[in-house]
Amino acid sequence: MKITIAHNTNEETLRVVAHLKKLLQQKDDVVFDAKYPDVVITVGGDGTLINAFHRYETQISSIRFIGIHTGHLGFYTDWRSDDVDKMVDALFLRQPESTNYPLLEVELETEAGEKRHFLALNESAVKRVSHTLEANVYIEGKLFENFRGDGLCVSTPTGSTAYNKSLGGAVIHPRLKALQMAEIASINNRVFRTLSSPIVIAPDQWITIVPDANHLVMTVDGQHIDVYNAKKITYRISQKVIQFDRFGHTRFWSRVQSAFIGDKNDTI
Ligand code: NAP
Repeated sequence: MKITIAHNTNEETLRVVAHLKKLLQQKDDVVFDAKYPDVVITVGGDGTLINAFHRYETQISSIRFIGIHTGHLGFYTDWRSDDVDKMVDALFLRQPESTNYPLLEVELETEAGEKRHFLALNESAVKRVSHTLEANVYIEGKLFENFRGDGLCVSTPTGSTAYNKSLGGAVIHPRLKALQMAEIASINNRVFRTLSSPIVIAPDQWITIVPDANHLVMTVDGQHIDVYNAKKITYRISQKVIQFDRFGHTRFWSRVQSAFIGDKNDTI
């Protein structure tokens, strides 16, 4: 099994990484391979996993991820650092089983007809550098609304707990292969009128934003990209998915509860 460990540089992380490496070195069939790994183990936070995802996004169909958190319980990092021994045992005892999460495909087309593609694990947002953003929003190629405001954010189900949630978007279970668009401070007056609430589209639908601006900033999982002369930006569910090893996966709603409300153990 070709494994690589991606991590941040916190003191606790470095301690966990040293222990994890020792455990893996004791296994006969482990090869450390940072170029073409079968399994990427991340140690740190969700941000660490997002960075690893982008590092390996071109090989995404042949990689399984495992996230160990050294801070708070994360949405992609649900193994506790104290459970590393258990995690390594599970990795070698069972047939690898994985769970898939949807990804967002972004296609940017410029006025010159050039196309660029991006893959997002959490979301992609579009904003203007200065002044408000004016844009037409199309669903399946049909004009839906004229937007004016700070920007728009399209997120995946697993990204629904990140920037989307801060924008008032709904939290969506990652078994639903759906995309959500949330507004960032829309202006609503007699001239500009938007729905003013987040929308969730079906897996076979797509959203196109046609901005009225020469210079935009697009973010993909928090990374800024300067965009000049954009004709349109199209968002759809990618054919690609991210695969996580299934064992030890904390229930999605427990992760949401733990992150935003606090643990409650009552059952009915
Ligand atoms: P960052 O500082 O690395 O991350 C900001 C926070 O978002 C961190 O606490 C991170 O958790 C958490 N996070 C990341 N993915 C999450 C998810 N799927 N569900 C819940 N929380 C999540 O910021 P960045 O590098 O600029 O961008 C990374 C992501 O952070 C973006 O994709 C965006 O969704 C989110 N973000 C949110 C806001 C906001 O809510 N206003 C602003 C900026 C960025 P860890 O501490 O575990 O890494």
